[in-house]
Amino acid sequence: MKDSFGRNIDYMRISLTDRCNLRCIYCMPPEGIPKMSHVDILRNEEIVRIVRVAADLGIKSIRLTGGEPLVRKGVVGLISDIRAIDGIENISLTTNAVLLPQMAGDLKAAGLDRVNISLDTLDPEQFTEITRLGKLETVLDGIEAALAVGLDPVKINAVTVRRLNQDFYSFASMSIDRPLHMRFIEYMPVGSSSGFDNSGWGPEDVISSEEVREAINASAREKALPELIEVRDEDKPLGYGPAKYYRFPGAKGTVGFISPLSKHFCSECNRLRLTADGKLRPCLFSDVEYDLHEAVRTGTDADIAEVFYTAIGAKPDEHHDKVGTERGMSAIGG
Ligand code: SAM
Ligand code: SF4
Repeated sequence: MKDSFGRNIDYMRISLTDRCNLRCIYCMPPEGIPKMSHVDILRNEEIVRIVRVAADLGIKSIRLTGGEPLVRKGVVGLISDIRAIDGIENISLTTNAVLLPQMAGDLKAAGLDRVNISLDTLDPEQFTEITRLGKLETVLDGIEAALAVGLDPVKINAVTVRRLNQDFYSFASMSIDRPLHMRFIEYMPVGSSSGFDNSGWGPEDVISSEEVREAINASAREKALPELIEVRDEDKPLGYGPAKYYRFPGAKGTVGFISPLSKHFCSECNRLRLTADGKLRPCLFSDVEYDLHEAVRTGTDADIAEVFYTAIGAKPDEHHDKVGTERGMSAIGG
């Protein structure tokens, strides 16, 4: 499926739920967000049907996200059903890892290929401050569980925020002894216009990837340790998408930088997003959505395909520096 700008659209991110077992200050208010009505949420068999039609149209990769995808009932069965669809080549998951210690084995057995774990800090107190409900130890156990069951690659995503004073070097150096892919993502002031963002963080808290990489190298020089070197394309971890990758010499993993704000990667964007209530979003930063909910409940497969064609035809060339959205990340599926 090519869009109007010649980009091949073969990747769909599916938000399974807007609910979460954490309350990160930049994503949700302490009481959680007003819940989507149960009848509005796509049922597992509806998601499977949409993915089947999407696969016929050329979607090859699926990422399950949320909210927290692992709190969704039947997520393991959903993964095995998606795994059985012809044309789907890989399934990945973005998770806060809280439930990974008990679920990683079943997820792998159901056909999950790889996992992205969100972890913004290695300081236990700061972790609880940011997530309000979380314990750092559980996430570290989740990372171990993902490695132990053979999910590959395991990527760890940290949103970088100036006022947090994160220790970028300690974070990056987790890639030295383990096959972990540590990635720094520029904080995006998404959803702040609608009050989902309670952090008080503003545009002044955005740190460019360039600055983070320089800070890591400066710490390395201070410790008389080697600096990051660029990774060749053929050595990048699977599904590297828009990240730019580096590694410490001899390290088992890599260090990546994702710069949605300082460097546009819109020209390479190959993705669509499906919200938990069945809306297809061609662009993270645009509130324009196309309704699959109605098509999947009352229509034929051809009606579902038609919504895909319309959404892909309407995919904008780039975000034009508009980064606020009406919905928060947990509703869109970050
Ligand atoms: N609950 C899962 C998790 O935390 O990995 C999946 C959903 S969460 C919305 C997906 C990712 O979006 C997380 O890594 C989170 O840090 C990131 N995120 C949320 N709000 C963000 C923002 N304003 N800027 C950048 N990343 C954000
Ligand atoms: Fe939950 Fe993920 Fe949002 Fe944190 S970032 S509140 S873990 S959905």
